[in-house]
Amino acid sequence: MHLQQNISLLPYNTFGIDVQAAYFTELKDINDLEAITELPYEKHILGGGSNILLTQPIKGLVIHNQLKGITVEKEDDNHVWLRVQAGEVWHELVLYAVNTGLGGIENLALIPGTVGASPMQNIGAYGVEAKDTIESVTFWYWNEKRLLTYNNRECEFGYRASIFKEGLKDKVFITSVVYKLSKQPRYNTSYGAIEQELEEMGVKEPSVKAIAYAVMNIRMSKLPDPKVIGNAGSFFKNPTIARTEYEILLEKYPSLPSYKVSDNLVKIPAGWLIEQCGWKGYKIDDMGVHAKQALVLVNYGKAHGKEIWQLSGEILRSVKERFGIELEREVQVW
Ligand SMILES: Cc1cc2nc3c(=O)[nH]c(=O)nc-3n(C[C@H](O)[C@H](O)[C@H](O)COP(=O)(O)OP(=O)(O)OC[C@H]3O[C@@H](n4cnc5c(N)ncnc54)[C@H](O)[C@@H]3O)c2cc1C
Repeated sequence: MHLQQNISLLPYNTFGIDVQAAYFTELKDINDLEAITELPYEKHILGGGSNILLTQPIKGLVIHNQLKGITVEKEDDNHVWLRVQAGEVWHELVLYAVNTGLGGIENLALIPGTVGASPMQNIGAYGVEAKDTIESVTFWYWNEKRLLTYNNRECEFGYRASIFKEGLKDKVFITSVVYKLSKQPRYNTSYGAIEQELEEMGVKEPSVKAIAYAVMNIRMSKLPDPKVIGNAGSFFKNPTIARTEYEILLEKYPSLPSYKVSDNLVKIPAGWLIEQCGWKGYKIDDMGVHAKQALVLVNYGKAHGKEIWQLSGEILRSVKERFGIELEREVQVW
Protein backbone atom coordinates (compact mmCIF):
# COMPACT_ATOMS: atom_id res chain seq x y z
CA MET A 1 0.00 0.00 0.00
CA HIS A 2 1.32 3.39 -1.00
CA LEU A 3 -0.02 6.19 1.19
CA GLN A 4 0.17 9.69 -0.33
CA GLN A 5 -0.51 13.06 1.26
CA ASN A 6 -2.20 16.28 0.12
CA ILE A 7 -3.46 15.03 -3.23
CA SER A 8 -5.75 17.14 -5.43
CA LEU A 9 -8.98 15.30 -6.27
CA LEU A 10 -9.49 17.36 -9.44
CA PRO A 11 -8.69 14.45 -11.80
CA TYR A 12 -10.85 12.08 -9.76
CA ASN A 13 -14.32 13.69 -9.94
CA THR A 14 -16.48 14.35 -13.00
CA PHE A 15 -17.78 17.64 -11.55
CA GLY A 16 -14.21 18.91 -11.93
CA ILE A 17 -13.98 20.32 -8.40
CA ASP A 18 -10.52 20.99 -7.02
CA VAL A 19 -10.19 20.05 -3.34
CA GLN A 20 -7.38 18.22 -1.60
CA ALA A 21 -7.41 14.93 0.25
CA ALA A 22 -5.12 14.89 3.30
CA TYR A 23 -4.40 11.18 2.64
CA PHE A 24 -4.86 9.17 -0.54
CA THR A 25 -4.20 5.61 -1.64
CA GLU A 26 -4.97 3.39 -4.63
CA LEU A 27 -6.43 0.02 -3.62
CA LYS A 28 -5.18 -2.59 -6.10
CA ASP A 29 -4.96 -5.60 -3.79
CA ILE A 30 -7.89 -6.70 -1.64
CA ASN A 31 -5.43 -7.98 1.00
CA ASP A 32 -4.46 -4.36 1.75
CA LEU A 33 -7.90 -3.72 3.24
CA GLU A 34 -6.83 -5.17 6.59
CA ALA A 35 -3.92 -2.74 6.92
CA ILE A 36 -6.07 0.18 5.67
CA THR A 37 -8.67 -0.63 8.34
CA GLU A 38 -6.05 0.05 11.02
CA LEU A 39 -5.16 3.52 9.70
CA PRO A 40 -6.47 6.20 12.10
CA TYR A 41 -8.20 8.28 9.40
CA GLU A 42 -11.81 8.66 8.37
CA LYS A 43 -12.23 6.61 5.19
CA HIS A 44 -13.84 7.78 1.93
CA ILE A 45 -14.25 5.35 -0.96
CA LEU A 46 -13.80 6.77 -4.41
CA GLY A 47 -14.74 4.98 -7.62
CA GLY A 48 -15.06 7.02 -10.80
CA GLY A 49 -16.11 10.13 -8.85
CA SER A 50 -19.19 10.53 -11.07
CA ASN A 51 -21.78 10.74 -8.32
CA ILE A 52 -20.10 13.00 -5.77
CA LEU A 53 -19.97 16.72 -5.08
CA LEU A 54 -16.83 17.81 -3.22
CA THR A 55 -17.69 20.76 -0.98
CA GLN A 56 -14.63 20.88 1.32
CA PRO A 57 -11.09 19.55 1.71
CA ILE A 58 -11.10 15.91 2.81
CA LYS A 59 -9.36 15.58 6.18
CA GLY A 60 -9.30 11.77 6.13
CA LEU A 61 -8.17 9.07 3.72
CA VAL A 62 -9.52 8.73 0.17
CA ILE A 63 -9.25 5.15 -1.10
CA HIS A 64 -9.32 5.05 -4.90
CA ASN A 65 -10.77 1.68 -5.86
CA GLN A 66 -8.62 -0.09 -8.46
CA LEU A 67 -9.65 -3.71 -7.80
CA LYS A 68 -9.78 -5.33 -11.25
CA GLY A 69 -10.91 -8.60 -12.77
CA ILE A 70 -13.88 -10.36 -14.41
CA THR A 71 -14.34 -14.12 -13.91
CA VAL A 72 -17.08 -16.60 -14.74
CA GLU A 73 -18.42 -17.82 -11.39
CA LYS A 74 -20.77 -20.43 -12.90
CA GLU A 75 -22.79 -21.11 -16.02
CA ASP A 76 -25.82 -23.13 -17.14
CA ASP A 77 -27.78 -23.40 -20.40
CA ASN A 78 -29.49 -20.05 -19.89
CA HIS A 79 -27.24 -17.89 -17.76
CA VAL A 80 -23.68 -16.87 -16.94
CA TRP A 81 -22.80 -15.57 -13.49
CA LEU A 82 -19.94 -13.06 -13.71
CA ARG A 83 -17.97 -12.02 -10.64
CA VAL A 84 -16.67 -8.54 -11.30
CA GLN A 85 -14.16 -6.75 -9.08
CA ALA A 86 -15.48 -3.43 -7.86
CA GLY A 87 -12.84 -1.22 -9.49
CA GLU A 88 -13.74 -2.31 -13.02
CA VAL A 89 -15.22 0.50 -15.12
CA TRP A 90 -18.98 -0.10 -15.46
CA HIS A 91 -19.17 0.69 -19.18
CA GLU A 92 -16.25 -1.71 -19.88
CA LEU A 93 -18.33 -4.44 -18.22
CA VAL A 94 -21.29 -3.56 -20.45
CA LEU A 95 -19.04 -3.80 -23.52
CA TYR A 96 -17.64 -7.13 -22.29
CA ALA A 97 -21.19 -8.47 -21.86
CA VAL A 98 -22.53 -7.27 -25.19
CA ASN A 99 -19.44 -8.46 -27.06
CA THR A 100 -19.98 -11.95 -25.63
CA GLY A 101 -23.72 -11.82 -26.39
CA LEU A 102 -24.80 -11.73 -22.75
CA GLY A 103 -27.92 -9.74 -22.02
CA GLY A 104 -29.28 -7.83 -19.04
CA ILE A 105 -27.18 -4.68 -18.74
CA GLU A 106 -27.13 -3.36 -22.32
CA ASN A 107 -29.63 -0.57 -21.48
CA LEU A 108 -27.15 0.68 -18.87
CA ALA A 109 -24.40 1.42 -21.41
CA LEU A 110 -22.29 4.53 -20.94
CA ILE A 111 -23.24 5.18 -17.30
CA PRO A 112 -19.98 6.53 -15.87
CA GLY A 113 -18.30 5.07 -12.81
CA THR A 114 -17.27 1.75 -11.36
CA VAL A 115 -18.89 -1.64 -10.84
CA GLY A 116 -18.56 -1.20 -7.05
CA ALA A 117 -20.83 1.83 -7.14
CA SER A 118 -23.53 0.10 -9.23
CA PRO A 119 -25.31 -1.45 -6.22
CA MET A 120 -24.81 1.72 -4.12
CA GLN A 121 -27.62 3.64 -5.75
CA ASN A 122 -28.90 0.76 -7.89
CA ILE A 123 -27.97 2.55 -11.10
CA GLY A 124 -30.69 2.67 -13.69
CA ALA A 125 -31.55 3.94 -17.15
CA TYR A 126 -33.95 3.19 -20.00
CA GLY A 127 -36.21 0.89 -18.02
CA VAL A 128 -33.47 -1.27 -16.48
CA GLU A 129 -31.79 -1.19 -13.06
CA ALA A 130 -28.64 -2.87 -11.75
CA LYS A 131 -30.78 -4.83 -9.27
CA ASP A 132 -32.36 -6.74 -12.18
CA THR A 133 -29.09 -8.64 -12.73
CA ILE A 134 -27.26 -8.39 -9.38
CA GLU A 135 -27.09 -11.83 -7.77
CA SER A 136 -24.90 -10.84 -4.80
CA VAL A 137 -22.61 -8.14 -3.46
CA THR A 138 -19.44 -8.87 -1.48
CA PHE A 139 -18.08 -6.18 0.82
CA TRP A 140 -15.50 -5.52 3.49
CA TYR A 141 -17.11 -4.52 6.77
CA TRP A 142 -14.78 -1.97 8.38
CA ASN A 143 -16.00 -2.61 11.95
CA GLU A 144 -15.87 -6.39 11.76
CA LYS A 145 -12.69 -6.52 9.64
CA ARG A 146 -14.06 -9.24 7.38
CA LEU A 147 -15.73 -9.89 4.03
CA LEU A 148 -19.49 -10.49 3.91
CA THR A 149 -21.80 -11.34 1.00
CA TYR A 150 -25.40 -10.18 0.66
CA ASN A 151 -27.84 -11.70 -1.82
CA ASN A 152 -30.09 -9.49 -3.94
CA ARG A 153 -32.89 -9.36 -1.34
CA GLU A 154 -30.52 -8.44 1.50
CA CYS A 155 -29.25 -5.47 -0.54
CA GLU A 156 -32.71 -3.81 -0.09
CA PHE A 157 -32.66 -2.24 -3.53
CA GLY A 158 -35.05 0.58 -4.36
CA TYR A 159 -35.20 3.49 -6.77
CA ARG A 160 -31.64 4.92 -6.64
CA ALA A 161 -31.34 3.28 -3.24
CA SER A 162 -29.89 0.27 -1.43
CA ILE A 163 -28.79 -0.74 2.05
CA PHE A 164 -25.29 0.49 1.08
CA LYS A 165 -26.57 4.05 0.63
CA GLU A 166 -28.63 3.87 3.83
CA GLY A 167 -28.13 1.41 6.74
CA LEU A 168 -24.58 0.45 5.72
CA LYS A 169 -23.57 3.92 4.47
CA ASP A 170 -19.86 4.58 5.19
CA LYS A 171 -19.58 1.21 6.95
CA VAL A 172 -18.48 -1.01 4.07
CA PHE A 173 -16.21 -1.23 1.05
CA ILE A 174 -17.87 -3.13 -1.82
CA THR A 175 -15.17 -5.39 -3.27
CA SER A 176 -17.01 -7.39 -5.95
CA VAL A 177 -20.44 -7.93 -7.47
CA VAL A 178 -21.91 -11.04 -9.11
CA TYR A 179 -24.23 -10.36 -12.07
CA LYS A 180 -26.50 -13.01 -13.56
CA LEU A 181 -26.53 -12.38 -17.29
CA SER A 182 -28.71 -14.09 -19.84
CA LYS A 183 -27.68 -16.20 -22.83
CA GLN A 184 -31.19 -15.78 -24.26
CA PRO A 185 -31.85 -12.14 -23.46
CA ARG A 186 -35.24 -10.51 -23.47
CA TYR A 187 -34.85 -7.08 -24.98
CA ASN A 188 -36.24 -3.99 -23.32
CA THR A 189 -36.72 -1.42 -26.08
CA SER A 190 -39.96 0.11 -24.90
CA TYR A 191 -38.33 2.93 -22.98
CA GLY A 192 -37.32 6.33 -24.28
CA ALA A 193 -36.23 6.63 -27.84
CA ILE A 194 -34.52 3.22 -28.16
CA GLU A 195 -36.86 1.86 -30.84
CA GLN A 196 -36.62 5.02 -32.90
CA GLU A 197 -32.82 5.02 -32.61
CA LEU A 198 -32.64 1.35 -33.68
CA GLU A 199 -34.69 2.26 -36.73
CA GLU A 200 -32.41 5.17 -37.57
CA MET A 201 -29.43 2.82 -37.19
CA GLY A 202 -31.07 0.49 -39.73
CA VAL A 203 -31.33 -2.36 -37.21
CA LYS A 204 -34.06 -4.85 -38.15
CA GLU A 205 -33.35 -7.59 -35.58
CA PRO A 206 -32.43 -6.15 -32.16
CA SER A 207 -29.44 -7.63 -30.34
CA VAL A 208 -27.79 -6.76 -27.02
CA LYS A 209 -25.02 -5.03 -28.96
CA ALA A 210 -27.40 -2.98 -31.11
CA ILE A 211 -29.38 -1.89 -28.05
CA ALA A 212 -26.21 -0.88 -26.20
CA TYR A 213 -25.11 1.22 -29.17
CA ALA A 214 -28.57 2.78 -29.53
CA VAL A 215 -28.47 3.75 -25.85
CA MET A 216 -24.96 5.16 -26.29
CA ASN A 217 -26.09 7.29 -29.25
CA ILE A 218 -29.09 8.64 -27.33
CA ARG A 219 -27.03 9.41 -24.23
CA MET A 220 -24.31 11.17 -26.21
CA SER A 221 -26.90 13.43 -27.84
CA LYS A 222 -28.66 14.29 -24.59
CA LEU A 223 -26.20 14.42 -21.71
CA PRO A 224 -23.21 16.72 -21.27
CA ASP A 225 -19.87 14.90 -21.49
CA PRO A 226 -18.10 15.43 -18.14
CA LYS A 227 -14.79 15.68 -20.02
CA VAL A 228 -16.16 18.85 -21.63
CA ILE A 229 -18.50 20.28 -18.93
CA GLY A 230 -18.16 19.18 -15.31
CA ASN A 231 -21.26 17.42 -13.99
CA ALA A 232 -22.45 14.36 -12.05
CA GLY A 233 -25.44 13.37 -14.18
CA SER A 234 -28.87 13.81 -12.58
CA PHE A 235 -28.40 15.91 -9.47
CA PHE A 236 -31.87 15.15 -8.07
CA LYS A 237 -34.05 12.05 -7.88
CA ASN A 238 -37.45 12.00 -9.57
CA PRO A 239 -39.94 12.46 -6.69
CA THR A 240 -42.74 10.00 -6.00
CA ILE A 241 -45.97 11.54 -4.74
CA ALA A 242 -49.43 10.34 -3.73
CA ARG A 243 -51.94 10.03 -6.57
CA THR A 244 -54.32 12.35 -4.70
CA GLU A 245 -51.62 15.03 -4.52
CA TYR A 246 -50.86 14.47 -8.22
CA GLU A 247 -54.52 14.95 -9.20
CA ILE A 248 -54.70 18.29 -7.38
CA LEU A 249 -51.50 19.46 -9.14
CA LEU A 250 -52.79 18.23 -12.51
CA GLU A 251 -55.79 20.57 -12.27
CA LYS A 252 -53.43 23.51 -11.91
CA TYR A 253 -50.75 22.21 -14.33
CA PRO A 254 -52.52 20.14 -17.04
CA SER A 255 -49.23 19.34 -18.82
CA LEU A 256 -47.67 17.82 -15.67
CA PRO A 257 -45.91 14.61 -16.84
CA SER A 258 -46.04 11.48 -14.68
CA TYR A 259 -45.28 7.75 -14.52
CA LYS A 260 -47.40 5.29 -12.61
CA VAL A 261 -45.53 3.64 -9.72
CA SER A 262 -48.53 1.86 -8.16
CA ASP A 263 -52.27 2.46 -7.84
CA ASN A 264 -51.59 5.09 -5.17
CA LEU A 265 -48.22 6.50 -6.20
CA VAL A 266 -46.99 8.56 -9.13
CA LYS A 267 -43.47 9.56 -10.17
CA ILE A 268 -42.88 13.07 -11.52
CA PRO A 269 -39.83 13.98 -13.63
CA ALA A 270 -37.75 16.34 -11.46
CA GLY A 271 -36.33 17.94 -14.63
CA TRP A 272 -39.81 19.16 -15.62
CA LEU A 273 -40.42 20.71 -12.18
CA ILE A 274 -37.03 22.47 -12.26
CA GLU A 275 -37.62 23.71 -15.80
CA GLN A 276 -41.04 25.12 -14.84
CA CYS A 277 -39.33 27.11 -12.10
CA GLY A 278 -37.20 28.78 -14.79
CA TRP A 279 -33.84 27.17 -13.97
CA LYS A 280 -33.08 25.44 -17.28
CA GLY A 281 -30.01 27.07 -18.85
CA TYR A 282 -29.43 29.27 -15.76
CA LYS A 283 -25.81 30.35 -15.43
CA ILE A 284 -24.02 32.34 -12.76
CA ASP A 285 -20.24 32.71 -12.69
CA ASP A 286 -18.82 29.27 -13.47
CA MET A 287 -21.86 27.14 -12.62
CA GLY A 288 -25.41 26.59 -13.68
CA VAL A 289 -28.18 24.29 -14.84
CA HIS A 290 -27.61 22.54 -18.14
CA ALA A 291 -29.37 24.14 -21.12
CA LYS A 292 -30.69 20.83 -22.50
CA GLN A 293 -31.33 18.90 -19.29
CA ALA A 294 -32.59 20.77 -16.21
CA LEU A 295 -31.78 17.82 -13.93
CA VAL A 296 -28.06 18.27 -14.48
CA LEU A 297 -26.09 20.93 -12.59
CA VAL A 298 -22.85 21.93 -14.26
CA ASN A 299 -19.43 23.38 -13.53
CA TYR A 300 -18.23 25.43 -16.51
CA GLY A 301 -14.78 25.94 -15.04
CA LYS A 302 -13.66 26.75 -11.54
CA ALA A 303 -16.92 26.58 -9.57
CA HIS A 304 -16.67 25.55 -5.92
CA GLY A 305 -18.61 22.56 -4.63
CA LYS A 306 -20.13 24.73 -1.89
CA GLU A 307 -21.57 27.12 -4.47
CA ILE A 308 -23.08 24.24 -6.44
CA TRP A 309 -24.50 22.91 -3.19
CA GLN A 310 -26.08 26.34 -2.49
CA LEU A 311 -27.51 26.50 -6.01
CA SER A 312 -29.06 23.05 -5.51
CA GLY A 313 -30.64 24.36 -2.28
CA GLU A 314 -32.19 27.32 -4.12
CA ILE A 315 -33.62 24.94 -6.72
CA LEU A 316 -35.05 22.70 -3.98
CA ARG A 317 -36.71 25.69 -2.32
CA SER A 318 -38.25 27.04 -5.51
CA VAL A 319 -39.72 23.65 -6.49
CA LYS A 320 -41.11 23.24 -2.96
CA GLU A 321 -42.63 26.73 -3.04
CA ARG A 322 -44.28 26.31 -6.43
CA PHE A 323 -45.37 22.66 -6.39
CA GLY A 324 -45.19 21.68 -2.71
CA ILE A 325 -42.86 18.82 -3.73
CA GLU A 326 -39.66 18.13 -1.79
CA LEU A 327 -36.86 17.12 -4.17
CA GLU A 328 -34.07 14.89 -2.91
CA ARG A 329 -30.43 15.10 -4.03
CA GLU A 330 -29.18 11.98 -5.80
CA VAL A 331 -25.52 13.03 -5.71
CA GLN A 332 -23.44 12.16 -2.64
CA VAL A 333 -22.07 15.26 -0.92
CA TRP A 334 -18.56 15.06 0.60
C1 LIG B 1 -22.87 12.15 -17.37
C2 LIG B 1 -23.40 11.27 -16.28
C3 LIG B 1 -24.49 10.45 -16.52
C4 LIG B 1 -24.98 9.62 -15.51
N1 LIG B 1 -26.06 8.82 -15.78
C5 LIG B 1 -26.55 7.99 -14.83
C6 LIG B 1 -27.67 7.14 -15.12
O1 LIG B 1 -28.18 7.11 -16.23
N2 LIG B 1 -28.14 6.34 -14.11
C7 LIG B 1 -27.57 6.32 -12.87
O2 LIG B 1 -28.04 5.56 -12.01
N3 LIG B 1 -26.50 7.13 -12.57
C8 LIG B 1 -25.99 7.95 -13.52
N4 LIG B 1 -24.92 8.77 -13.23
C9 LIG B 1 -24.38 8.76 -11.86
C10 LIG B 1 -23.13 7.85 -11.70
O3 LIG B 1 -22.58 7.51 -12.94
C11 LIG B 1 -23.49 6.55 -10.96
O4 LIG B 1 -24.06 6.84 -9.71
C12 LIG B 1 -22.25 5.67 -10.75
O5 LIG B 1 -22.64 4.42 -10.25
C13 LIG B 1 -21.22 6.27 -9.80
O6 LIG B 1 -20.07 5.45 -9.85
P1 LIG B 1 -18.66 5.98 -9.35
O7 LIG B 1 -17.73 4.83 -9.36
O8 LIG B 1 -18.25 7.17 -10.15
O9 LIG B 1 -19.00 6.40 -7.85
P2 LIG B 1 -18.35 7.57 -7.01
O10 LIG B 1 -18.87 8.89 -7.50
O11 LIG B 1 -16.88 7.41 -6.94
O12 LIG B 1 -19.00 7.26 -5.60
C14 LIG B 1 -20.37 7.47 -5.36
C15 LIG B 1 -20.70 7.03 -3.93
O13 LIG B 1 -20.55 5.61 -3.83
C16 LIG B 1 -19.57 5.28 -2.87
N5 LIG B 1 -18.80 4.14 -3.40
C17 LIG B 1 -18.21 4.07 -4.61
N6 LIG B 1 -17.61 2.87 -4.77
C18 LIG B 1 -17.83 2.19 -3.62
C19 LIG B 1 -17.45 0.90 -3.16
N7 LIG B 1 -16.70 0.07 -3.89
N8 LIG B 1 -17.86 0.52 -1.93
C20 LIG B 1 -18.59 1.34 -1.15
N9 LIG B 1 -18.98 2.57 -1.53
C21 LIG B 1 -18.59 3.00 -2.75
C22 LIG B 1 -18.72 6.51 -2.69
O14 LIG B 1 -18.10 6.55 -1.42
C23 LIG B 1 -19.74 7.61 -2.90
O15 LIG B 1 -20.45 7.86 -1.73
C24 LIG B 1 -24.39 9.60 -14.22
C25 LIG B 1 -23.26 10.44 -13.98
C26 LIG B 1 -22.77 11.24 -15.00
C27 LIG B 1 -21.57 12.10 -14.73
